[in-house]
Amino acid sequence: MEQAASRTITIVGGGSAGWMTALYLNKVFNDGVRNYQLRVIESPDIGIIGVGESTVHSVRFFLAAMGLDEQEMLREVHGALKLGILFRNWMKPVDGKTHEYFHPFEHQRLGAGLDINSLWFAAGRQHSERYDEGASLSAALMAAAHAPKGPGSRPYQGVVPYGYHIDATLMARFLRRKAVEAGVEHIEATVEQVRVANGEIAAVETTAGEFTSDFFIDCTGFRGMLIDALREDNWESFETALPCNRAVAIQRELEPGEAPKPYTRSTALSNGWAWQIDLVNRQGTGYVYDGARLSRDEAEQELRDFLGPQSEVLKCNHLSMKVGCRREFWVGNCVSIGLAGGFIEPLESTGLHLINLGAGLLATHQPERVVSQSIRDSYNRLMVGFYQDLKQFIVLHYCLSNRDDSEFWRAAPATVEEVPWLKSQLEIWRHKVCEFHDLAGSFSTTFSDENYRYILYGMQHYPEVRAQVEATQAEQVFGELARRQEQALQQTSPHGDYLRQLNL
Ligand SMILES: Cc1cc2nc3c(=O)[nH]c(=O)nc-3n(C[C@H](O)[C@H](O)[C@H](O)COP(=O)(O)OP(=O)(O)OC[C@H]3O[C@@H](n4cnc5c(N)ncnc54)[C@H](O)[C@@H]3O)c2cc1C
Repeated sequence: MEQAASRTITIVGGGSAGWMTALYLNKVFNDGVRNYQLRVIESPDIGIIGVGESTVHSVRFFLAAMGLDEQEMLREVHGALKLGILFRNWMKPVDGKTHEYFHPFEHQRLGAGLDINSLWFAAGRQHSERYDEGASLSAALMAAAHAPKGPGSRPYQGVVPYGYHIDATLMARFLRRKAVEAGVEHIEATVEQVRVANGEIAAVETTAGEFTSDFFIDCTGFRGMLIDALREDNWESFETALPCNRAVAIQRELEPGEAPKPYTRSTALSNGWAWQIDLVNRQGTGYVYDGARLSRDEAEQELRDFLGPQSEVLKCNHLSMKVGCRREFWVGNCVSIGLAGGFIEPLESTGLHLINLGAGLLATHQPERVVSQSIRDSYNRLMVGFYQDLKQFIVLHYCLSNRDDSEFWRAAPATVEEVPWLKSQLEIWRHKVCEFHDLAGSFSTTFSDENYRYILYGMQHYPEVRAQVEATQAEQVFGELARRQEQALQQTSPHGDYLRQLNL
C-alpha cells in the first residue's frame, strides 16, 4: 500500500511556472517513495499570461528528464523547433543592407594553434563573412530553413542544440495534464487571503476553503501574492538598465504557403523590438517597448505596420511588465518561481529556463518548513545572481547599438553604466577575444562566452587581434567547418518537411 506523504507542498498558480515546478518536484521526490503531497491551486478566474512561446535549448533537457514524449508535446502545443534567434536592425544598415545576425545555441570547438575565434580575426574573416556564419553549423541550417534533425533522429537529439516554439496556453495545459496524471493534486480556486504567522505562511484562504501546508510556492505571476505577504520592499527593479516595460502581443496567421521558420526573429523597432515566433498553425508576434516613450496605441500601430497586411490578426493583447527580481526569492516557508520571482524582458526567451533553474535549485535545497537560514541565503544568492547575470547579457544587446534614429536608441549605449562589469569587459574585448575564462566567477550558466561572442561580434564589437597566421592554417580550420556545415545540411530535413512528417 502506498504510504501517505507526511509533508505538503502547495503551489499557487497554474501557469507554466506552477506546472513545471509541480512536475519537477513530483518527479524528483515522489518517484517510487512519496515524500511530499503536492498540490496546485489555480484560479479559474485569473488567466495565465499566455505569452512565452520561444524557449532556449535547456528546456529540452527538462522535458526529457520528466520522461515526456517529445512528439506528443509538439503535437499538443502546435510546436516547432528553434535553432536560435535572428537579430535584425539592431544596428544601422551595413553597406546599405539591413544589419542582421543569428544567435545560435551552438559553438564549434575547432582549431589548431590559435583558438577558432582568434583565428577568425587573425585571418581577417570579419571583412568577408559574419561570425555566426563562420563559426557555427546552426547559422547554415537556419539560413536554409532546416530543422536540427532528420527523419531518423532520436527524440530530443539533433545535429545541433535546439529549443522550441510553443503555444504558451497549450503548453501550460499539457504540463498540467502530465502533472495530474503523475499524481499532483489540482484544485481550482482563487486565493483570497494569505494568512501569515511568525514570518511564515500558515494557510491560504481560498474560494474552496482554507489550505494549510508545510511549504508554499508562489507561482501567481506578476501578482506575487504569497511572497509579497511575507516581506515588504522585496523587489529590485531593473528598469534603468532595461527600460522596456510594456508589450503588445499579436497572434496572426502564417503567411500563405510559408513553412514555420526554425528560429525566432527579433527586429529592433523605434522604441524596443518585435518578436516573431512561428508555430505550425500561426505566428506569435509582439512589440516589447519603453512605455515612457511610446503609448499603447502608437506601439500597436507600429507593430501592425511592421507586420504588414498579409496575414489576418487573430488576437491582440496589451501587457505591462515588471522588470526586475526579488531581493529574496525564498522567505520563511515560501519560494517564488516564474514571474512571481522575477522577469527579464524576453529578448533571449529565458522565462521557462529560469523556472527550470528555480525548481531545480529548490529540489537540491529541499523545500522544508524548517531549514537553516543558510539554505535560504544560498538559494537567494544563486537566484539573484542568475537574474543579475541575465540582465547584464540583455544589456549587451542594447548598449552596442549605433542606431540614432530615436531617443530610445540614442540612450541605449548608456545602459552599460548600470552594469559596471560589462563596461570594463567591453573595453577588454576591444583588445582580445571573449573567452570562457573572462566569465569566471559569474553566474552565467544560461549564457556563456559562446553566447557573448555571438552578440559581441554580431554587433561588430571586434577585438584587435595582432597575430599573423598562415592562410593555410585558417583554410584548414574554416574549410573543416564548411565541410561540417555541408554534412549537417545533408543530415537534416527542411523544417517544414520535418514537422509534416510528424503530422504536426
Ligand atoms: C511579453 C512577454 C513575452 C515573454 N516571452 C517569453 C518567451 O519567449 N520565452 C519564455 O521562456 N518566456 C517568456 N516570457 C515569460 C513567460 O511568459 C513566463 O515566464 C511563463 O509564462 C510563466 O508565467 P507564470 O506561470 O509565472 O505566470 P502566469 O502565466 O501569469 O500564471 C499565473 C497563475 O497564477 C494564478 N493565480 C494568480 N493569482 C491567483 C490567486 N489569487 N489564486 C489562485 N491562483 C492565482 C493564475 O490563475 C495563473 O494560473 C514572456 C513574458 C512576457 C511578459
